[in-house]
Amino acid sequence: MNPTESSLPLSSPRIGVLAIQGDYDAHAQALIGAGAQPVLIRKPEQLAAIDGLIIPGGESTTFLKFLERDGFLGSLREFVRDKPTFGTCAGCILLATEVTHPAQKSLGALNATVERNAYGRQIDSSIHTAATELPGGPLEMVYIRAPRIVKTGDGVQVLATRDGFPVLVEQGHILAATFHPELSSDRRVHQRFVDLVRSRIAHSPR
Ligand code: GLN
Repeated sequence: MNPTESSLPLSSPRIGVLAIQGDYDAHAQALIGAGAQPVLIRKPEQLAAIDGLIIPGGESTTFLKFLERDGFLGSLREFVRDKPTFGTCAGCILLATEVTHPAQKSLGALNATVERNAYGRQIDSSIHTAATELPGGPLEMVYIRAPRIVKTGDGVQVLATRDGFPVLVEQGHILAATFHPELSSDRRVHQRFVDLVRSRIAHSPR
C-alpha cells in the first residue's frame, strides 16, 4: 500500500450519518468541523463503505418504522456490533439494550436501560451547561424531549451527568448522548467520536 493511501483514512475518516429524519445535516457539518468526511446514509448497502456512523436525534419510533423495511435494521445491528457508532437522543435510545416508557425494539449495542421522554414534553426542552470528563471546561448541552439513561451495565464509562443520571457515555466503540451536541458550536463531543473512529482504524487490520 502506498503511504498516501494508508494515511488518508486516518486523517479524515469517512463517517456516515443516518439520514432518515432528524438533524442529520447539522451532524454532517459538525463532523466536517471535527476533521471527518461525512456521508449521508439512506440505504443499508452504504454501511460497508464507512468507518463509523452517527445515529441522530429525531423520533426513535419513526426511525424503527423506516429501518424495519428492506432489512435495514438487521444490517445496522450487525454494523453496531463492532463498528464505531455515536447515538444522540433518539440514536441513544436505538443503541440501548433496553428501552422503557414504553418498551420498544433496539439495536442492543449499549449496555444500558434508557427511558424515553423522561424530562417531560417538548415544551420542557432546555439547555444546560455542565462539567464533563472531556478536556476544556464546561459543555453546553441541548436537550429536546430527551431520554434518561436510568441504568448502565459493565463497560460503560460515564462522561457527563445531569441530576445524577448519565447523559454522555462511552462503551468501547460506542458513544451515546441524551442531548444534541450538533446544535451547539462546541465540537468536543464530535471530536471525541472522530478520535475514537481514528483509533479504531489504526488498530484494525485493513
Ligand atoms: N423523544 C424522542 C424519542 O423518544 C427522542 C427525542 C430526540 O431525539 N430529540 O425517540
